[in-house]
Order: sequence, then C-alpha cells, then structure tokens
Amino acid sequence: LAMNYRGPFRVRADRNKPYPEILHPGDAIVQVTRSCICGSDLHLYHGLVPDTRVGMTFGHEFTGIVVETGSAVQKLKVGDHVLVPFNIACGMCPFCKQELYGNCHESNPEATAVGGIFGYSHTAGGYDGGQAEYVRVPYADVSPTVIPQGMDLDDAVLLTDVVPTGYQAAEMGGIKKGDTVVVFGAGPIGIMAARCSWLFGAARVIVIDQLDYRLEFAKNYAKCEVYNFRSIGDPVLFLKKQTDYFGADVCIDAVGCEAAGSAMNTLTGRKTLLQAGSTTALFWAINSVKKGGIVSIVGVYGPTWNFVPIGNVVNKGITIRANQASVKRLLPRLIDHVMSGRLNPKEIITHRIPLEEVSDAYHIFSAKRDNCIKPILIPSS
Ligand code: NAD
Ligand code: ZN
Repeated sequence: LAMNYRGPFRVRADRNKPYPEILHPGDAIVQVTRSCICGSDLHLYHGLVPDTRVGMTFGHEFTGIVVETGSAVQKLKVGDHVLVPFNIACGMCPFCKQELYGNCHESNPEATAVGGIFGYSHTAGGYDGGQAEYVRVPYADVSPTVIPQGMDLDDAVLLTDVVPTGYQAAEMGGIKKGDTVVVFGAGPIGIMAARCSWLFGAARVIVIDQLDYRLEFAKNYAKCEVYNFRSIGDPVLFLKKQTDYFGADVCIDAVGCEAAGSAMNTLTGRKTLLQAGSTTALFWAINSVKKGGIVSIVGVYGPTWNFVPIGNVVNKGITIRANQASVKRLLPRLIDHVMSGRLNPKEIITHRIPLEEVSDAYHIFSAKRDNCIKPILIPSS
C-alpha cells in the first residue's frame, strides 16, 4: 500500500505498489511506522513542482523499521527503528563534506539545484517516498539514525524535517540577543521557527498568517505575538509601526510559493490562476526587514521562476540566506533539545490518519480544514 500521485489535487492509496528492491549495496528497505504530510508535499500536490510524475509516491518525513540491508550496509541492522532525514545524502561528495546534506551531489547529480529528496519529484532525484508501507532508503549508513531509547515516535518523525527546518530558519536568520524576529507562516515550519528563535536569544517573535486557528496555536506553542494579515491593513506598514519604523532585525519566510485556488491571492484578495506560485510572503519579508537585516528563507519555491523584489534587496543591503535544511548536521543537537524537553515537537500533530485514507488527508491539510496543523499517516500493518 502506498500513496500514489494522479495529477494536481488528486492522490490515492495504491494497493498494487510493488515491494521496493535493494538497488545498491548501500540501500536498506524500511517498513514505515509513521509518515507525515508536509507543506512541501502540497507544492507537489498543487502541481507547482516541475517533473512531478503521475504514479510517484510522496513522503519525505518518516520513521520505520529496517527489514533488509544491502551488502555494504554496516551501521544499520535488521530490526533497527530509525528516523530517516528527508535529504538523501551520500556523505562523501564535496557538499556533504561541508555538511550541506541538502545539497548532496551524488544523490541527484543531474539537478540544477537541489540534492536528492525522498518522494519529491524527479527534480529532486525521482526517489519514491515514505507515504507507503515500505520504502527503499539509499545511503542507509549516512543519514538514517536509530531512534534514541525513550524517544516518542511522534517526536522522532518530526526530527526528519519540521524541527531541523524550523531550527535552521532561525539559525540562518543570524538572530542575536535582543532581536525582533518576524516569521511569515504559522504552519508547522513557521511555528517551529518561532519556537526556535527564542533559543537564539530573540527578544520579540512575531508570527503572521491568515488562519486564526493556526495563529492561536502558534501563540500558545511558541509563546509569540501573532497577527492575522487580513486584519492589519498593509502588513509591511503595520510591521514598520511595530518596530519604530526601523523594520525587523530578521524576517523568516516559512510560506514559500502559494497554490492557485487553494488560498486567496494575498496581494489582490482574489482567487485567480495567475497567483499560482505567488511570492507574497517573501515580498513582505524583504520589505519589512530593516536595512542591513537578514531574510531567512525556508519556504519552498517550486516553479522554476519566481517574482522577487530584488531591487529592494539591493537598496536595503539585505542578506538573504536560504536552503533546504541540513537535517543530519542538526540532528545531534536537536535530539538533545527534544530529549531534554526544551522542544516538544509532537504537540503540533493534530491528525493521525490511516494510510488508506491518504486522499482525505491531503484534502484536509491542503484546505486547512478541521484546525489541521500537522497530519501523520499511519500504515496499518
Ligand atoms: P503549511 O502549508 O502548513 O503552512 C503554510 C502557512 O503559510 C499556512 O498557514 C498559510 O495560511 C500561510 N500563508 C500563506 N500565505 C501567507 C503569507 N503571504 N504570509 C503569511 N502566511 C502565509 O506548510 P508548512 O509545512 O508549514 O511548510 C511551510 C513552507 O516550508 C513550505 O513552503 C514548505 O515547502 C517549506 N519547507 C521547507 C523545508 C526546507 O528544508 N527548506 C522543509 C520543510 C518545509
Ligand atoms: Zn517536509
């Protein structure tokens, strides 16, 4: 059983997915125990990522039990319960050597941009993902990590992406003691970025979204100020007023491109096809950070081209830092934060849905129904 992409806004559970095979001696086969749907999957679901092929299985956030290992695998053994970082990393190329595990060369050598990612289109290497009962895990000795004794599986699965991405968003922002940080987006990533901003010494953390239930959640979980951009007039002007007209020290984009029809065009207030891939949050981030400030982007921009007010970046002397999270680099310290209780990622999980009902799960998460923050899929076996 596996999730199966049928085209924009259509996915289904496929009972005929063949059992994955070991293709390289470094591979392992993992029986999935938890698998999340991510905001990044919504870009695929909305048809915004080039070369997303019908028949593909998504899913880059998963835990599972090793059921088979290739002849070269040394660290993992059958029966190990592992969390599997979303980046597929060889561990040996010049980028992995710099701990840029999200930019691995070997796992996606033909790519113009990203390294290999589980279940994230042929642009990210064409690997099948973990929204399935079984998945092939390449370079099994490099990133997959045995779940520490006593760690809740729900926490473990969020260490594969949400926690490292939120943390790296704050880290790339170069937050200094006393800084004001504005986070755009109150999805799982924005909420975690807000929470992690405090760890870097922020004095004030503001989260902006359009969904009151998510803002309420962010306020409680990340102890931040929250504003609905539909009720504050021009968000850029509003944020200027909030910061003595200087602008925020750091702005974090945890939104990425938006889908046509799934959300209202945030600039025009209309639902229109033209808005597919719109970049409103980034536009606001660039315009509301202070001169010389930092904009940290973890939002994903699926389409090849995106509109960015680059002139303002130049004129304000802004530093833009962006990347896919480097999960393996961050795992040791994040495991420590979770085990010590400084971060409680599992609290953001609002929905547990059987893998058979994957189509409903995508619907709920995409339409932000039922106060959904983070859904996880549970394979029945
Ligand atoms: P999500 O869809 O659950 O949340 C996005 C939120 O942004 C929604 O609550 C939406 O209402 C809000 N939003 C839309 N337009 C906005 C605007 N103009 N200003 C403020 N808020 C706005 O997604 P998520 O799981 O939280 O992921 C967020 C982004 O992070 C996605 O683009 C995803 O692809 C990306 N992501 C990146 C990485 C990475 O490694 N860089 C990893 C995971 C996710
Ligand atoms: Zn993800």
